[in-house]
Amino acid sequence: MIIAIDGPAGAGKSTIAKLIAQKLGFLYIDTGAMYRALTLKVLDDKIDINRPEQIIALAKKSDIDLLNNPDGSIKVLLDDVDVSLPIRDPRITKYVSDVAKIKEVREIMVNLQRKFGQRGDCVLDGRDIGTVVFPNADKKFYLDAHFEERVNRRHKELNGMGKGIAFGDVKADLANRDNIDSTREVAPLKRADDAIYVDTTKMSIDEVVQVLLKHLNL
Ligand code: C5P
Repeated sequence: MIIAIDGPAGAGKSTIAKLIAQKLGFLYIDTGAMYRALTLKVLDDKIDINRPEQIIALAKKSDIDLLNNPDGSIKVLLDDVDVSLPIRDPRITKYVSDVAKIKEVREIMVNLQRKFGQRGDCVLDGRDIGTVVFPNADKKFYLDAHFEERVNRRHKELNGMGKGIAFGDVKADLANRDNIDSTREVAPLKRADDAIYVDTTKMSIDEVVQVLLKHLNL
């Protein structure tokens, strides 16, 4: 069974997807982590973000994998190295949408995501899961929240991870990613026609989980 959860950054996707996967005993596939892993390699290899052909070449020779830890968290492997922590760095967040808008990069990632989806029942979160990666997913959700609330959440989350980052910087980053992700030519962020829309602005994590579980009716 495939459960697709899409929506903008800060809408609660990864937190909710992880909890739903844990409750149902499904695999959790964080597709954003895959674009982040490639972005880490692009920056570490000092590749110019404006040279898509070099980024595509790098994507072709990169090995990205996602493993589920017993505690529900995921391990992100880039060429067999655990990059779970560095991919959350603000320098990655700043450029990830520029890497993710490249058509050939998306083709590589989407193929991988479809392969991961064959590993068993899973919950995938991203921007294009219900529209492109798994248009026939068994259940699709689109999580959303007001911009200010998403900024608040992301700011809290980053500071909780010890990444002292100014509120204004988080706000600018989110606005920039919202813009690139929803206006890019290939697989822009949008709600699939058959996705259940959930506005999480005023909801607790537990409330969102309960709403999704109710719709899943498993
Ligand atoms: O989910 P997360 O915020 O970690 O995703 C990082 C970035 O990866 C997004 O802003 C978006 O540019 C890209 N992404 C994507 N398609 C997905 C998942 C993430 O383009 N399915």
